[in-house]
Amino acid sequence: MTSQASQELFAFDSYWEAPAASDPDSSRPTVRQTRCSSLLHSMNFGSTTEYTINQYRGCTHGCIYCYAPSLIHDERSWGGFVDVKINAASVLDRELSQAKKQVVFVSSASDPYQPVEARFKVTRKVLKVLSKHRFPVLLLTRSPLILRDLDLLQSLEWVRVGFSISSVSTKFYEPGVPSVEKRLEALARLRDRGITTWVSMAPIIPSLVLTDLDWLFQRLKDVHVSAVTLGLLRFNGYESSKQMFERRSGKTAEEVMENGRSVYQEITDMAKSHGLDTSGDSLSWSPAEEPESTPSLDIFAN
Ligand code: SF4
Repeated sequence: MTSQASQELFAFDSYWEAPAASDPDSSRPTVRQTRCSSLLHSMNFGSTTEYTINQYRGCTHGCIYCYAPSLIHDERSWGGFVDVKINAASVLDRELSQAKKQVVFVSSASDPYQPVEARFKVTRKVLKVLSKHRFPVLLLTRSPLILRDLDLLQSLEWVRVGFSISSVSTKFYEPGVPSVEKRLEALARLRDRGITTWVSMAPIIPSLVLTDLDWLFQRLKDVHVSAVTLGLLRFNGYESSKQMFERRSGKTAEEVMENGRSVYQEITDMAKSHGLDTSGDSLSWSPAEEPESTPSLDIFAN
């Protein structure tokens, strides 16, 4: 693809989708440029440690089950705003020069390729910094806009590119998210360019499995994802997210979570029956040297 065609394909307005249709109070999303003093945050998962970065605060994909609102504590309507940390790359550059090498997860509380990225290219700049410092990268998105950065992804020494696909992949539950078909096409393109891909099947909402999983798993097999990880919807500790979900969906968390354990097992078995790896082993990065110390959890969202 020529750079001219690339610019047209990923033009800001073509990726700027309608505001959260399931939120009657929402209006066109507001975008604010901000500056951050830190970006890199350490997460301790017991035996492993990972960094997480969020170069955006807020996410205009506006998924109505999203747990991020419970982490960032913002009064604005979820899906209706995004703060762009315009100095994210330079802050990260400074932080990585002193950081122990661990996987950097991009991103934990926002989509790194939500529509504003087409205009501001903050994630692209961040990837350049990660490549410069040769840090391993675990990336998760719902947007094919990531294809714009194939060159940078290929420059990383270790990268795993994941797409999220929930059990409710519809405009009602995920107002600003590109279609599953577009995500599958992007997975195929990434794989064709030699990039290891995976799918986070999350959240699974037990009584709301609206996606044809048999079809989906066959497609994931066809596009050669390295792994499918599965995650049930959880609202424990995410009270404001639970309230948002109930208000926007008109359903209670309790009713949609019924039979969670058995539905989870059923879906896991179905994925395995299609020959998909649900262990997630391919997503583990092994450092050449043991870390000298174990960083502790500071904060999850910026
Ligand atoms: S794409 Fe991710 S961060 Fe954005 S609204 Fe959906 S679940 Fe939340």
